[in-house]
Parts: sequence; C-alpha cells; structure tokens
Amino acid sequence: MLAKIKSLYNVVDEKPALNRARYVALSRQIPLMYAIVLVNMLGMVVTHYQFAPAVLTLTLPLILLPFTIIRSYRIITAKEEKLSDGEIAKRLNTINILSATIGIVCVSWALLLFSYGNAYTQGHTAFFICLTAIAVITCLMHLRQAGLLMFTTVLCPTAMFFLLQEQVVFKAIAVNILLVSGTMLFIMFRYSQAYTQVIDKQARLEQQSKILKILSNENMRLANLDSLTTIPNRRRFFSELEKRIQERQESSDPLVVGILDLDGFKQVNDIFGHPAGDQLLIDASHRLKELFDDDVFIARLGGDEFGLIIENPGTERELKGFGNYICDALREPFQMKEGSAQVAGTIGFAIYPEAGKTPSILFERADYALCYSKQNNKGTIGIFSEEHETAIREVSSIAHCLREANLNDELDIHYQPIYDTKQGHIVAFEALARWNNPQLGVIPPNIFISSAEQSGIISRLTPILFNKALHEASKWPSHIGLSFNLSTFDLCSPDSILSLLNSIERQGFDATRITFEITETAVMQDFNRATHGLSLIRQMGSKIALDDFGTGYSSLSYLPRMPIERLKVDRSFIEDIESSNAKQDIMHTIGELCRNLKLECIIEGVESESQFLLLDKMGYSLMQGYYLSRPVPALGLPDILAEDLMSQQVPTAVNG
Ligand code: C2E
Ligand code: CA
Ligand code: CA
Repeated sequence: MLAKIKSLYNVVDEKPALNRARYVALSRQIPLMYAIVLVNMLGMVVTHYQFAPAVLTLTLPLILLPFTIIRSYRIITAKEEKLSDGEIAKRLNTINILSATIGIVCVSWALLLFSYGNAYTQGHTAFFICLTAIAVITCLMHLRQAGLLMFTTVLCPTAMFFLLQEQVVFKAIAVNILLVSGTMLFIMFRYSQAYTQVIDKQARLEQQSKILKILSNENMRLANLDSLTTIPNRRRFFSELEKRIQERQESSDPLVVGILDLDGFKQVNDIFGHPAGDQLLIDASHRLKELFDDDVFIARLGGDEFGLIIENPGTERELKGFGNYICDALREPFQMKEGSAQVAGTIGFAIYPEAGKTPSILFERADYALCYSKQNNKGTIGIFSEEHETAIREVSSIAHCLREANLNDELDIHYQPIYDTKQGHIVAFEALARWNNPQLGVIPPNIFISSAEQSGIISRLTPILFNKALHEASKWPSHIGLSFNLSTFDLCSPDSILSLLNSIERQGFDATRITFEITETAVMQDFNRATHGLSLIRQMGSKIALDDFGTGYSSLSYLPRMPIERLKVDRSFIEDIESSNAKQDIMHTIGELCRNLKLECIIEGVESESQFLLLDKMGYSLMQGYYLSRPVPALGLPDILAEDLMSQQVPTAVNG
C-alpha cells in the first residue's frame, strides 16, 4: 500500500521516452510557472506591506526571486539530449519535490499574512492561493505526480484552513478550492493518461522505424553484395562507377575501369565440378582483395568476371604493370580439397575520360579491350586505344555497307568437303559464306557475320545464304550432305528456324541430308529458346552438330542435354598436336567422350599429313581441313565430286 502511494508521487524511469517528453514540455513551462508565482506574490506584497511586518512580507519573495531565476536559467539551458534516462527521471523528481516544497512555503507565507490586514486583504490572500495553485497545476500538467502532491500538501491543508474560519465566505472558498482543484486534478490525470499513450505510441513507432531502417540497410547491403564471394556485385559496381564519374564532372581526374576475366575457369568447373569452381571464385576474390588498397574498388560482375575501378591509375605503363601484378597473383595455383588448380587472368582497361565519359561507354570499351586481348593475346592486359576505336568504326562501317548492299548478288558460298577418311570419300560439304563488296572488297565471314549479328541484319543474310546452298546441294549426289552454319540469332529465333525449314520444303530437298552447325556460345545465350529451335530442326529430320567444340564457355554437363548428333572439334586442339602430349591426351579424352555419348566426331583444321596420320591412328575418321581440301567456290565442285566418285570406284574396282 505504502509502495503504491509512493509510486503515485514518485517519477520512475521505466518509461524513458515518456519521461523525456515530460521533461521537454516542463522545461518550457516551469519558468512561466515561476514568473506567475512571483508576480502574484508581488501583488500580495503590495496589498500587505502596510499591514504586516516587512520581514514577513519581503523575506520570502526576496529569497525566491534569485532562486527561481537561477532554476529557470538552468532548466532552459540544459541540453535534454545529453542527459541520460536516469538523470531525466531524477530531474523530474526534483521538480516534483521542489514544486511541493515551494507550494507549502508559499501557502504558509500567504496564510501567515492572512492574519494581518482587513477583509479585503484576506479575500485577496484566498484569491492568491487559489489562482496561483491552479496556474501551477496547469503548468505542471505533464507531471501528474506533481499535481497530486500539490493537491495533497498545499490545497487540501489550505481548504482545511479556510473551512475552520468563522466567516461563511471562507468556508465557501474552501469548498470552491476543493471542487476546482479536484476537477483540475481529475482532468490532469485523464490528460496524463492520453499523453502517456501518445508518447508510448510515438516511441513504438520510432522503435519500429529504427528496426525498419536497420532491415532496409541490411537489405541494401545484401542487394549490393555477391552472395558467393561476399564482395560487391554488378549492381554495386555500376552505382559506384556512376557515383565516381559524377564526382569527376568538374575535376576530370583520370579513373580506370577494368574487367578481369579468368582463363581456364571453365575447365576447373568441368574437371573438379561446380563446388570446386565456386571455391576457386571465393579464393580468387579474396586473393584479389588482398592485393588492393583503398584506390581500387573490386566487384564480381558474374561468372568468372570481375570489375575494377581504379583511382589514381598513374601512367599507361604503370597501369599495365598493375594489371600484370594482378595476373601474376592469379597464376599462383589454388589449393582446393579436390586438388590444385591453376587459372590465368585477362584484363581489359578503359581510361576516363579518354575512352569515354559515361559508365556504360567506359564499361563497353573495357569489355572491348578485354575481348580483343582474349582473341589475340590471352592472359595479357589490354588498354582501350585508338586501334580499338578504329576496329569499332570498321565494324560499324561494315554494318552500314551490309545494309546498303545488294546481298543477293554480293553474297557467295564456298564449300569445304568433310571426308570420311577411312572410307576415303566425301560425306558432306560445309557451306562457308563469302561477301564481295564493291567498296570494301572481300570481307572474311567471321567479321561480316558478327557485324551482321550485332546490327540485326543476320535475319536477312541467313535465308539468302541457305537458299543458295540448297540450290547448289540439290545438284550433288544424294549421299552427300550439306552442313550449314547457324548464328546465335538464327538459333534463338523460332521464326528464323521456321523460314529455313520452309525453304527446305519449298525446294523439295531431303531434310535428312542437312546438318546445322551451332556453337556452344549460341546455345548458352538462351538455353531454353535454343533447345526449342533445335527440336524443331530435329522434327524435320535434319541433324545438329556442335561447332568449335572446346572454345565455348559452357560446362560439359550441358552436353548430354543438347539434342546433337555431332561434335566438331575446334582446330585449336589440332594445331601443333604432333608436338603436344597434352593436346593428344585431350583428343583421346574427346574420342572417349563421343563414344560414350554416341556422338559422331568431326575434326576441323587438319592442315598437314602428320596431323592426319596421328588422328587416323587415334581412330578418328571424319575430318575437314586444308590438308584434305580448302573451301572451293561452287564452280570448283564438279571436279571435286568427280574425283570423289573416282576414289570410290577405285576400291570397288580393286575389290572387283
Ligand atoms: P567455322 O564454322 O569454324 O568454319 C571453319 C573455318 O575454318 C572456315 O573459315 C574455314 O575456311 C576454315 N578452315 C577450314 N579448314 C582449315 C584449316 O585446315 N586451317 C585453317 N586455318 N582454317 C581452316 P571461314 O570460311 O573464314 O569461316 C569462318 C567462320 O565464319 C566459320 O567458322 C563460321 O563460324 C562463320 N561462317 C562462315 N559461313 C557462315 C554462314 O553461312 N553462316 C554463319 N552463321 N556463320 C558462318
Ligand atoms: Ca562450321
Ligand atoms: Ca568450326
């Protein structure tokens, strides 16, 4: 019971937010309260000065005046945000006790003065006590404990005092005091309850918004991190690049964008499996992070590609040196539980502002420098230069000429035979596009085909080439097939595939004689669309060959999922095979793979007798290459076909 009563008067610090809000409100109201008390006291001094002793009339106001000024000053200048929750509760209790003490002292002073003077001054005293108490309670509205304390320690005894007076007027005043202050106290409690709820709610909302902020910061952090390596991801890379370029709008300080690609990562994936590949990426990103200081920002862009943003890159020579330093570090073998693996890095750099002034152009150009290095000097550093700029311009001028060209007249096809070397005869011809433009001259297919792909003209080009090839192939003996190359676009566009199949039907050609050559990269671009296109081709009865096998980026695990009948082994495996044991081992493995997956295997790029004999010894029979025959124009085909017929007749004749 005693504890409950104590809790009614005492300010506890269990609701820190509420106490803080109370303190803020009170610190504005208390100086006002003191001012009212002092002014009212002054009124009392004026009316009682002539009746009461000066010591009594003046002492208290003279003590209170400096005291309240100092208190008010301290309250106004105190920095609430610097006070701890405990200190705030302590200060509220002080306000509580101090207001009750001052209240008691003031009322005692007024009641002492009451005995002096006449009926008017007595009336004034009653009026002073009543109104001052009401003003004080109003000012302490936010601290119901103080209100209750004032009521019990000041107003109740005062009411008792007036009640005990003989005059009825004072008895009536006593009743008035109790009634008004009781009502005020009731309202104060109600207000305090509502105020507590509002502050509680506000505190809850603030707490929730703090949690939300933490969550959204965490989400933001996760959205900007690569989940595997925990270094920044592609999204973060571009936002960082954007930010840094924006910072440079005025200064134009150089900045370098780099793209780093791991060479040999695909093989690690294929040989050791995906978990090992993942581990390698994690180790590689840690290794890279350790190499750099604050001037280099690194992110994983996806797959085995990393992005770099380099501040203060120094000269081009220094940049190259820095690139080599990164590549050297990557060349150190990675130790994993599956075994040790080695990769290399190729890097493309683009320097701001020379190579471009926007993030997308800089990135595109760094990528170009990377691809250029990959094609020409794997494992080296490429810095986007004027030479690259010229090459880009050439591609776009090729695209321009392609658009203007009379493709029907200018496109031609050469045919390269594919031999069954065991049987000694031609099994098919591969159609290889040729473009002879009056302005540009003869353009090699790998250049104009990729330019046509980039500029979207390929959809016009493929049907023209295919119709020409079909027309030519219909003149060949029926056992000889036609191999036709499809681009990424052709493969991923059902319309394009359907139009090719229509051409076959229209020309009345036997679809089973046709093999479409596709590349891994084309399939990987959009695996689902590509396999849909491939199944359309298969429904017609045509075959599919995977071209340039071994140069793409896919994993071997995709192989059984592709509806293919043939593999064409890229000529890079045949180059110098005579002197390379590693290449011979690879060729043995590929042979084994084809036997297991029941795939026919065609070897491309057989250039010499020694290569031919070696491959023949390994058991390969389907071959294509300069050693057997270069691609020939349609005009040269009758001779080759006649020769082929002869060679088939020779064994027959011998046997016969
Ligand atoms: P590909 O499909 O790998 O074609 C084989 C390329 O290797 C041809 O180059 C051929 O001339 C060349 N080649 C053949 N035997 C040897 C050899 O023993 N040694 C060397 N060094 N090279 C040999 P080409 O005709 O310049 O064609 C290049 C690429 O252009 C083709 O590579 C193919 O990807 C693309 N291409 C050619 N014609 C077409 C076409 O009609 N459509 C599409 N989409 N692409 C085509
Ligand atoms: Ca081909
Ligand atoms: Ca090829």
